[in-house]
Amino acid sequence: MAGRALRPVGEMAAAARRITSDSLESRLPNPNPHDELGQLATVLNDTLHRLESSFDALKRFTADASHELRTPLTALRSVGEAALREARSPEELRETIGSMLEEAQRLHDLADTLLLLARAGSGRMPLQRETFSLEALVTDVCERLEVLASEKNQRIEITSAPGIFLNADPVLLRQAVTNLLHNAIRYSPADSLIRVVTGKRGGDVSMEIIDQGPGIPEEHRQKIFDRFHRIDKARSRADGGTGLGLALAKLFVEQHHGRIELDCPASGGSTFRILLPP
Ligand code: ADP
Repeated sequence: MAGRALRPVGEMAAAARRITSDSLESRLPNPNPHDELGQLATVLNDTLHRLESSFDALKRFTADASHELRTPLTALRSVGEAALREARSPEELRETIGSMLEEAQRLHDLADTLLLLARAGSGRMPLQRETFSLEALVTDVCERLEVLASEKNQRIEITSAPGIFLNADPVLLRQAVTNLLHNAIRYSPADSLIRVVTGKRGGDVSMEIIDQGPGIPEEHRQKIFDRFHRIDKARSRADGGTGLGLALAKLFVEQHHGRIELDCPASGGSTFRILLPP
């Protein structure tokens, strides 16, 4: 009797023993999901499903990161090889070295951002909270990026509700706002207006970056915050993008229990909105 009653436990244990990181798609047998043992098998199978999804995401990320690191490395090598093959004047060689250094810088930035994402994602970057004025933070970011906007003859207009103070990590929030504003500058046309609006929205503190760029097509809106997801890879790379800016901004905002929303009105452009609990 006891042996028969315990047989399903033995079968579950044997199935569990066979599962490794290469066979996370396997599930434990569950002949009767309604008894206690069946409920345990359901819980364990749900856990396996979550593990499988995490492993898949990790594999995808590793593959994407390797690919992204390989692109500047390939460019570095082919530029160097071409320069070695052909006789070149000192000016031409200087130009070659310049473009090799640019690629090296890109590799460096990419590695830095990947490390930052890994550290922040694993919770090894505790928030260093301070109380500061939102208006001061936003003005500071706009002033820093003004030079990039002016290269495209774009105007940044700030509309800031005064007297809003945040108790948050100023470094991480500054980085999040910087990434959104940098994108607005990067992807909007020359001579356009970029508006930065801060205020309160439904009890949250809000920061909006509103541009007159191409907007985000419907089919990309869900995935645009995923690591390395870009609408136009070539354009992003040519403009110095890594495909990690939005993922990083989202992570930093979520560490503050906030969220980022995206609106693309029919009239055109994108609005990225950071919402933080007060
Ligand atoms: P990247 O380094 O490529 O800019 P991001 O994660 O910051 O990476 O952005 C991902 C992609 O989202 C970009 O490659 C671009 O296609 C799109 N994108 C981001 N911001 C905007 C914007 N303001 N307007 C139009 N497209 C944008």
